[in-house]
Amino acid sequence: MKLSKYFVPTLKEVPNDAVVASHVLMLRSGMVRMLSAGIYSFLPLGYKVIKKISEIIREEIDYIGGQEFHLPALNPREIWEETNRVEAFGDTLFHIKNRDYVLAPTHEEIMTYHARNVMKSYKDMPQIWYQIQTKFRNEARPRSGVIRGRQFLMKDAYSFDSSYENLDKSYALHDEAYRKIFDRCGLKYFVVGASSGAMGGTGSEEFMVRSEAGEDTVAYCESCGYAANVEVAASVVDSKKREEVSEEIKEIHTPNIKSIDELCGFLKIDETQTAKSRVVINDGEPILVLILGNEEVNETKLEKALGGNVRPAHPEELVKISGADAGSIGPVGFKHRIIADLKLKDANNLYSGANKTDYHISGIDLMRDVPGIEYFDLRSAQSGEGCTGCGSKLEVFSAIELGHIFKLGTKYSAAMGANFLDENGEAHPIVMGSYGIGVERVAACFIEQNHDEKGIVWNKVLAPFDIQLIALNMKKEDVVNAAESVYLKLKEEGFEVLYDDREAQAGFKFNDADLLGMPLQIVIGEKKLKENKVEIKVRKTGERFDTELENLYIKVKELLI
Ligand code: ATP
Ligand code: MG
Repeated sequence: MKLSKYFVPTLKEVPNDAVVASHVLMLRSGMVRMLSAGIYSFLPLGYKVIKKISEIIREEIDYIGGQEFHLPALNPREIWEETNRVEAFGDTLFHIKNRDYVLAPTHEEIMTYHARNVMKSYKDMPQIWYQIQTKFRNEARPRSGVIRGRQFLMKDAYSFDSSYENLDKSYALHDEAYRKIFDRCGLKYFVVGASSGAMGGTGSEEFMVRSEAGEDTVAYCESCGYAANVEVAASVVDSKKREEVSEEIKEIHTPNIKSIDELCGFLKIDETQTAKSRVVINDGEPILVLILGNEEVNETKLEKALGGNVRPAHPEELVKISGADAGSIGPVGFKHRIIADLKLKDANNLYSGANKTDYHISGIDLMRDVPGIEYFDLRSAQSGEGCTGCGSKLEVFSAIELGHIFKLGTKYSAAMGANFLDENGEAHPIVMGSYGIGVERVAACFIEQNHDEKGIVWNKVLAPFDIQLIALNMKKEDVVNAAESVYLKLKEEGFEVLYDDREAQAGFKFNDADLLGMPLQIVIGEKKLKENKVEIKVRKTGERFDTELENLYIKVKELLI
């Protein structure tokens, strides 16, 4: 492809609204343009990458027996009502003016619709059906370019099985295929969430990449591969050290002191000497939740520890329950159940509220003064804490979900009456799985992981072109002739070549080549040509060397393996 005729509108400056690296570089390299918030047009260069990713996905899903469909994006609303998902999706679902239709955010319903009445017998299964198709979601906060769009391309696959045991097999096939797909793309990824193993029907795993642009926070252990969302991640934490001598408890007048910050300022103490209290109502029962003053309660862990419904106590309830306002509540003398974070286990010489407005207590010994206190893991794991699996250090960072595999069980088949007959002629709902990959997200995540200050650094697999061929001076006939013949020969040899034949300054061409990031650059200039030589630059390492024209093709083959 000749760059003079190819539509690649590169930008020198960083576009205003772009923050994350992949968004900036996809715009600057002319891969995409925004049409409207969260809606992107892929231009020829960008679409080449999307096609390459799609092809890898296709090959690997076909390899495990997947059959490719192409379903309509415009769906009759009544099918979505069969599973009650018009309501479940809420505002995320795009409705069109004609309320009989919706724009599909995913395709469980439509695939189940096609399976219903067709897969009548256990003999009709297993089946894996998939497609690579546009999805529509009215995301509340579209951001980071194509990473969270309102229209995006998804590979969505669905498995149909006659038992949970067989679902486990379909699920394992996808797990394997996903690893191959992301390995082939050259992504560094990790897997969050454990599959439930046999018969569970609720296993799910997310394939994630580390990225500043991520909206999930995960705890990850490099040495054993343990990975979990911080909402649920466990960690080995040292409890606060128990001091040798427990002081007597003492009531202190603390007028208008409401927060831990104010208390520490007023008494000139450190947050780690305090225990922060909060009262929640758990299925009607008041419970005091205690945590070290400089820590925060993880709501998911709290809900898991208590089970049932958990809500904060209202201010008027607080006084009734504890005898004090919110700023003065504490464990000593609290009349109801008390739970504390593990880090506080058996701690002493603590400051906390006195259950008397405007008073606090010092010298609290949880062992001595708070009988019946229960301990739970109530805080989020933090970087540097121990991995519960292997004892190494955990790292906590933001991550993006690339793909998701999920044992649906019979949620959709039961709701939609998609039943089959087993060996004994008994009817059962089909056992299903669903498996998604965000195709554009794969491209964006690759760029997140492979760029430098000059631009994108493609690998051979995803690069829109293998080589960017640069003719330094288009006014010199010998340069143009040599470049043309190299271009034709490289194409003949099966390489994809982007030939910069524009009449432009060398510096401009070099910058564009680094920005677009093809794995190899071949530079044809007048001086070297006189010695029958051209220059090769490896984009990834920045390494440059000269090679004789007749050795060029062998050299290029070596470098692109
Ligand atoms: P997220 O938590 O990021 O919203 P999700 O759980 O809603 O993802 P799924 O419904 O499992 O995602 O969709 C499968 C895949 O589709 C995701 O793993 C992701 O790669 C991609 N995807 C989901 N939402 C978007 C979006 N708004 N823009 C681009 N890709 C998306
Ligand atoms: Mg979502």
